[in-house]
Amino acid sequence: MKIEQKEKGCQWSKKCGGCSYQGMPYEKQCRIKQRTVEELLKGICKVKPIMAMEEPYYYRNKAHAVFDRDRKGKIIAGIYQEGTHKVVPVEGCVIEDETCSAVIATVKRLLPSFKIKVYDEDTGYGLLRHVLVRKSFANNQLMVVLVTASPVFPSKNHFVKALREVHPDITTVVQNVNGRQTSAVLGQKENILYGKGYIEDVLCGFTFRISSRAFYQVNPVQTEKLYNKAMELAEFKGGEMVLDAYCGVGTIGLIASRYCRQVVGVELNPEAVKDALFNRSRNKAENVRIFQGDASEVMLDLAADGQRFDVVFMDPPRSGSTEEFITAVADSGVKRVIYISCNPQTLARDLQIFGKMGYRPNEAWPVDMFPWTDAVETVVALDRKKT
Ligand code: SAH
Repeated sequence: MKIEQKEKGCQWSKKCGGCSYQGMPYEKQCRIKQRTVEELLKGICKVKPIMAMEEPYYYRNKAHAVFDRDRKGKIIAGIYQEGTHKVVPVEGCVIEDETCSAVIATVKRLLPSFKIKVYDEDTGYGLLRHVLVRKSFANNQLMVVLVTASPVFPSKNHFVKALREVHPDITTVVQNVNGRQTSAVLGQKENILYGKGYIEDVLCGFTFRISSRAFYQVNPVQTEKLYNKAMELAEFKGGEMVLDAYCGVGTIGLIASRYCRQVVGVELNPEAVKDALFNRSRNKAENVRIFQGDASEVMLDLAADGQRFDVVFMDPPRSGSTEEFITAVADSGVKRVIYISCNPQTLARDLQIFGKMGYRPNEAWPVDMFPWTDAVETVVALDRKKT
């Protein structure tokens, strides 16, 4: 089944639009990504060969499905067709973990016998909107998030029990309530229906708690390669003060804490901050502090307080960083910056700003975190030019 599907490629890709490189040999995908980064960073720095994935299938530790009914009234689970609110049924995605996909299929199969209605966006009638499944590859734990339109969920305990009977690896089930007419999948309110409400994964020897709403890298195999490269580029000697900006659940900062004196992590999302604080205790990383707030604002405050950093890791979202952040980094005399980017366009823009502030980028290292899609991750080390 697995081989067959891999060879056939994805039959839903045209409508789904999630993987724009479906049908293209993997080597060619990597060549295009290499060229994209090289073109965007032309005149800025050299680009090393992309770190490709050995087995570029079923790599995502997360699956998401929106639930709806087709014209005949049959329940379907899939994704929104690009740019629309039309649901395209997808069964057996070739990039998502197969167990995660199987859980979604089981939810779909069980719904009628529990008389759980799927939500209708037009009429506002029905309960189940989305299902999100996250998996820890290291611990083989599964988290299921059932997104419902209202907090009232009849027969929830029986439903969860039936789901766990089919998938004993499910360690937690969370109900997330999203009653709003919005394109955001998750709402603010959550009830834990089973287990602890989070799963734990292991990366580079550290254990990370991941809750439903926190950002966590989706490709753990390539993430370890990326983080190892980032640590190598930092060239730690042991006494450094380190900033981990845009730290998420604290992954990069915690791993770095093993090699340096102290780490400060900064993250905007309060749920991710909670996870980061928990992860600090869980890993007994006493030399790590975490602040909640906007990276630029916190950086300015820290600089004003006289806090100095030797190394700054920054891993901003697709929109990149800001001139304020980069200026504050430069003004406080940071010697080395390790920039991890999921968008080479904003990376190129920010590297130009760093250039004006007296930083010189060394080589860029592209990493293929998202095979079959056009997304590419890049890590670059910058050094402050000697004056
Ligand atoms: N370094 C982490 C997370 C990177 S994703 C990891 O490797 O897993 C980017 C993170 O930046 C997200 O957790 C997001 O919530 C956070 N973020 C977005 N805008 C921010 C801002 N203005 N200030 C601080 N953090 C921000």
